[in-house]
Amino acid sequence: MPDKCDSCGGPVKGGICAYCGKTYETPAAAPVQTQYMQQPPIYYNQAPQTVYVEQVPAYSNKSKTTAALLCFFLGWLGAHRFYTGKIGTAILYLFTAGLWGVGALVDFIMILVGSYRDTNGLILK
Ligand SMILES: [Zn+2]
Repeated sequence: MPDKCDSCGGPVKGGICAYCGKTYETPAAAPVQTQYMQQPPIYYNQAPQTVYVEQVPAYSNKSKTTAALLCFFLGWLGAHRFYTGKIGTAILYLFTAGLWGVGALVDFIMILVGSYRDTNGLILK
């Protein structure tokens, strides 16, 4: 953009001659090299994230003793499996007499040695 009008010699301000009003277009600006910063955005005032670890009970709320007694007396009915929430296999035991006694016996041993788990995978207390 010239400083002076090439038609009348008047001052050019803002691309327009102050005297004759001739407009001068601003020369096309060179394409701005936009630099996209590949930087992670900065977060201000972000408190360090506190991770609350949920207190997962290590043991089932079901009693080992109760399960053992149910298994011993009513294992062929799947009572201990109903008790520990394993409804699916409990019904199976109900119709197969505790997997023909074998399942109930295995469960009873597992309860005694403490490796029997409830439906949530938790060891009985
Ligand atoms: Zn002019």
